[in-house]
Amino acid sequence: MTTPRILLIATGGTIAGVAADPSQPAHYQAGSLDAATLLSALPGLAGIADIRLRQPFNLDSCELGPAHWLAIAREVAAGMDDAAIDGIVVTHGTDTLEETAFLLDRLFAPTKPLVLTCAMRPANALSADGPSNLTRAIEAAITPALAALGTVVVIDERIHAAAWLRKHDARALDAFDHGGSTIGRCGPIAIDFEPRVPPRIPGRIEVLGLLPRVDVLWVGPGSATDLLAAALANGACGVVLALPGNGTLPTAWRKAVDHATKRQVAVVRASRTSRGAVSAAPDDTPLLFAAGRLGPAQARAALMLAIAAQLPADHFFG
Ligand code: ASP
Repeated sequence: MTTPRILLIATGGTIAGVAADPSQPAHYQAGSLDAATLLSALPGLAGIADIRLRQPFNLDSCELGPAHWLAIAREVAAGMDDAAIDGIVVTHGTDTLEETAFLLDRLFAPTKPLVLTCAMRPANALSADGPSNLTRAIEAAITPALAALGTVVVIDERIHAAAWLRKHDARALDAFDHGGSTIGRCGPIAIDFEPRVPPRIPGRIEVLGLLPRVDVLWVGPGSATDLLAAALANGACGVVLALPGNGTLPTAWRKAVDHATKRQVAVVRASRTSRGAVSAAPDDTPLLFAAGRLGPAQARAALMLAIAAQLPADHFFG
């Protein structure tokens, strides 16, 4: 049997971070170690996979934007097209993994495993989680059955569907929501298939170069409604409202929302809560609709993608 061939695309994050004092892992510089250094800490992986390395950049994921998403997508596309690659792993910061994972999931049809991984503690922390997460991710990527699930995220021995991923804890090792997105565990891999296949536009990564401005506005009791007009005035082509509860639109916001939708600006009702799906409301329209299972970060990415691809605003919300 030939050894599986894996493309490892390293992009930075805490998994590549270094703390000045390993006993103080909260203080560190993300994106300090390159892909080869990460891998050199795990010599045992050479026994299970031939790993080819790519490093488009090495950054804290808070520094990323559409140009970085496009750079990652190009690397993934090259790996997908390469018959000499059996699976792809992307290392990434946890903070904006929701957006990157979501966009990759909608842009690639599942032909070979595509696994993103990350870490909550820097590489030299006394209790670093990156080495274990990267090992589990490589193991997942050499499992052909995983391809059918689309893009997945592996962290803390769990497999998450990129489509429903939400970061729900700022510090814990199991930083991603177990409720909505977990589709399996890894170690010995067990996969519980997610029955819903999200809408995708495979082969269209060029739209990442055309993403329009979409703003997320957090709405609390008495929040200023003129934020919406300000977003429009500054060029937002769509707006996601992170609303209380089940995406409940306060009465005071109705006028500003109507003004936006009359100008053909889509408004998504997302939730400030970290779990559960926002349901459709009787007065929803094609330009004012519920985020469903997408959190505000993913809803923003979904709306940017739909506008760039000239699809109905709610196309990626299914
Ligand atoms: N700020 C880091 C990043 O997103 C956090 C992490 O990776 O956990 O790159």
